[in-house]
Amino acid sequence: MTSWIDSSTGDDSGFSLDVLPYGIFNTRIGAAIGRYILDLKALAQEGIFTTIDFDSSTLMENTLNSYAALGKQVHRQVRDLLQELLAHDTSRGTELRDNQKRRDRVIVKMSDATLHLPMSIGDYTDFFVGPYHAQNPGSTLHRNYMSQPIAYHGRASSIVISGTPVRRPKGQFLVDDKPVFAYSQKLDFEVEFAAFIGQGCEDGSPIPVDGAEDRIFGFVIMNDWSARDIQNWESSPLGPFNGKNFATTISPWVVPLEALEPFREPPVSSGPLLPYLHQKREDSVYSVPITVSLSGKKPYSPFVMLAHHTAGGCSLRTGDLIATGTLSGPSRKELGCLLEATKNGSEPYEFHTSETGAGRIVRGYLEDGDIVELKASGFGSCTGRVVSAECQA
Ligand code: CA
Repeated sequence: MTSWIDSSTGDDSGFSLDVLPYGIFNTRIGAAIGRYILDLKALAQEGIFTTIDFDSSTLMENTLNSYAALGKQVHRQVRDLLQELLAHDTSRGTELRDNQKRRDRVIVKMSDATLHLPMSIGDYTDFFVGPYHAQNPGSTLHRNYMSQPIAYHGRASSIVISGTPVRRPKGQFLVDDKPVFAYSQKLDFEVEFAAFIGQGCEDGSPIPVDGAEDRIFGFVIMNDWSARDIQNWESSPLGPFNGKNFATTISPWVVPLEALEPFREPPVSSGPLLPYLHQKREDSVYSVPITVSLSGKKPYSPFVMLAHHTAGGCSLRTGDLIATGTLSGPSRKELGCLLEATKNGSEPYEFHTSETGAGRIVRGYLEDGDIVELKASGFGSCTGRVVSAECQA
């Protein structure tokens, strides 16, 4: 399906009519199409959505939370309508394509817009579903890993939008086997996907695994910045804390599940699961290539994660962010973080940067000034620059 908005075909944004992700630009709700943004607030004000039975004022807010909470049925109808308005062979051409005044009002150049966090995030959970990450480097896979998706409760307060500089964190770690308080020397990135909750379960009633699909509003790509030295020293016996709570970057566009249908495949076998995690549908994981060669094969679908998350009575609210954990592949080229690719910094990794003209970049861990960019077609980019420790007072 192609759009009459010229740049949606032939440009490399991946923001095609089949993707049509939601985001917040200039504090308004919009949908990305090619190099443009469709202003959904302006469209709602123009009465475009009156044929659909829903509260269109939810599209006039400055986060996607109220709209996301309306549920799949409404989202599907709105998406269908937007695709009809934007398709080449539209039967509704007079409503937008042939109405120059309205086009001027509702179509914004993406390069002129400022993008913001798409949702107000109350809680953030990070799972640990990549089997290659779970057993790297050199560690054995824990017995519980094949029985349930493992996770930790992260900090929503440190989630930032793509493009926000990332300050090198200070913390406690071992130098010559003695604890010191200093700037992390082992700053790393983690390549992940994350799901935004649409309709949660505020009363703590468990979300059944086969109904979990309807609770996810959409996905973003995520960089869970990690300070390995701080993390390593603090993690025993409880888990990640200061090594993970200084910055987590997400991409600005929320890709609806409908757009990810072509990427569905069965999970890698994790053995028989307990009945509450057993899904009827087989092709329940999404294998979306990130950056050049990374493809995230994993044993647990996002629906199993939701079912397990809520099985004991944990509430999920609209806007909560549920991440997959680092998605590495079996080979060194399919790196999901430097910890694995460099064996904890001991074998530096060479990045191929010929496209950018920056030449050869070799890293054990990240250096000040490094810019890490994750990309997936249709998701846009998830970028952050490491700010020099010396710049901080
Ligand atoms: Ca992580």
